[in-house]
Amino acid sequence: MSSLKEKYKQFRRWQQQPFDYQDDHEYHRCCNCGAEFASNYCPRCGQRAILGPINWHNVWQGILDMWGIGTRSLPYSLWQLIWRPGYLMRDYISGKRMVSFPPIKMLVVMALILFLLNNILGMNYDEPSSDFVNPNAYEVFQEKIIDWLGKHISWTVLLSFSLFVIPVWQLFRQAPRFPRHTLPQGFYIQVFIGVQFLMFMSLMILLFYLIPSLSGDGDTATSVMITFALPIIAMIDFKQLFGYGWWGTLWRVSLCALLILLIVKLLFAVGGVVYYIRAWDEHEIAKYGVKSINHLSTLWVLFEIINVINSWSWLNNHWPKNLWRLVLALVTFLLVAYISNRLGFDNSLQNVMNTFTE
Ligand SMILES: [Zn+2]
Repeated sequence: MSSLKEKYKQFRRWQQQPFDYQDDHEYHRCCNCGAEFASNYCPRCGQRAILGPINWHNVWQGILDMWGIGTRSLPYSLWQLIWRPGYLMRDYISGKRMVSFPPIKMLVVMALILFLLNNILGMNYDEPSSDFVNPNAYEVFQEKIIDWLGKHISWTVLLSFSLFVIPVWQLFRQAPRFPRHTLPQGFYIQVFIGVQFLMFMSLMILLFYLIPSLSGDGDTATSVMITFALPIIAMIDFKQLFGYGWWGTLWRVSLCALLILLIVKLLFAVGGVVYYIRAWDEHEIAKYGVKSINHLSTLWVLFEIINVINSWSWLNNHWPKNLWRLVLALVTFLLVAYISNRLGFDNSLQNVMNTFTE
C-alpha cells in the first residue's frame, strides 16, 4: 500500500516537473567549427557537443527531419498530453518551448493520422442531414459550409477550437495558477486541446473497429468524442493548467460550452446579414440582423455574469466591481427582446430557451 502511495507521489512529481536538464562541464572541441567549450551544444554554430559516428539512428532521424518531425519527440509529447496535459501546456506557454513537439505541426500530423485511419479502417460518415424544413438560399449555403468542414479535418479542428479562445480567456482570467493569460497563449492552449482531441479520436476509431457492431460507424465515434470525451479532456486540462478545484472547473467548462453554442449561432446570423447584403433582400437582412443583435446581447450578459463571479471576493463582503455593467447588459438584453418582439422577430429570451431545447 505504501509503495503504491510512493509510486503515486512519484507520478505527481513527474506530472508537475518531468524535465531534468544536466549541465555538461567537460571540455569539447566542436566537430563542425572547431570552437572549444564546456556545454551540451556548441555556442558558436549550435551543433551537439557529443556526436558519435553516423549510424542507423542518424539515418532514421534524417528521414524524420525531412518531414520536419525529427528534432523533438512526437511520441513523448503525445504521452505527456495523455498524462500531464495541463502541465505541459503551462510549461510550453510559460517559455519551455523545447519540452514539446511544435504544437501546430503536431495538430497537422495528428489530423493526417486520423484521416489515414478513417480511410484504412473504412469508417463511414453520413452526409449531414438537413435541420431546416424549407431551407432558404442562405440555409442551403450553410449546409455547404458544414459539408466542406466535414471533409477537412485539420481546418475544422483548428477553426472550432479557435472559437474557444475568447470564452476560455474570459472564464479563466483570474485563475489561481495561471492568471491573465493572453489571447495568443490561449490559442496555443486550444491547439494542444485539438491535438488531444484528434489523438483520442484516433484511439476511439481503433476501439470501434474492434467492436463488430460499431465497426465503421464514424458518426457515433464523433458524437461520443464530443459529448463525453471532450468535456472530460477539458476538465482535466483546465484543472491542471489553471488550478481551480473540480467545481470551479466544472461550471466554467459548462458555461464555456454554452458560450460556444451562442458564438456559433452569432457567427451564422452575421453570415446571414453578409449573405443577404450581397443579394440585397431587405427582409432577410433585418431578420438576420435582429438575430445577431439578440445573440450579441445574450453573450454580453453572460460575459458580465462571469466577470462579476470572477471579481467576487467571498472573504470581504464588498459589492463586486463592475456590477453596473451587468445591469446595463441585462437592460440591453431585455430592450432588444422587447423591440424584436414588437418588430415580429423572435426575441432573445426565446432564443435562450431555444438554445437549451434544440
Ligand atoms: Zn561549432
